[in-house]
Amino acid sequence: MALLITDECINCGACEPECPNTAIYEGGALWALNGQTHNPISNDFFYIVPDKCTECVGFHDEPQCQAVCPVDCIIVDPAHIETKEELLAKKESLDLMGR
Ligand code: SF4
Ligand code: SF4
Repeated sequence: MALLITDECINCGACEPECPNTAIYEGGALWALNGQTHNPISNDFFYIVPDKCTECVGFHDEPQCQAVCPVDCIIVDPAHIETKEELLAKKESLDLMGR
C-alpha cells in the first residue's frame, strides 16, 4: 500500500526528511523520479507520490512518516493497495532507476 496525506495536514514538514524514498513533497512542489519532474499532486498540503512510496518496506519495520506525524493525518491509500512483495519490487526498481 502506498500511504496518503489527508487534508488534516498542518504542513509542519516533519515527515518529508524521514522518507527513505523521497516520496514526500511540500504542497506546490514539483516531484521527481528518474530525472524527470512532474506537477504537484497537491498545492495545499504535503503529499506522497504513490509510485515512490513503498510503505517503508525494504528500509524500516513501520512507515516513518506515520511515526512522526503530529496529527496522524497519514493513512493507507485505498486507491493504491499493494502486497509486501509488490512494495519490495517497487523499492528495488527505485534502487535501479534512482529516486
Ligand atoms: Fe515515505 Fe515510508 Fe511514508 Fe511511504 S510510508 S511516504 S516510503 S516514509
Ligand atoms: Fe503534514 Fe503530518 Fe507531514 Fe506534518 S508530518 S507535514 S502534519 S503529513
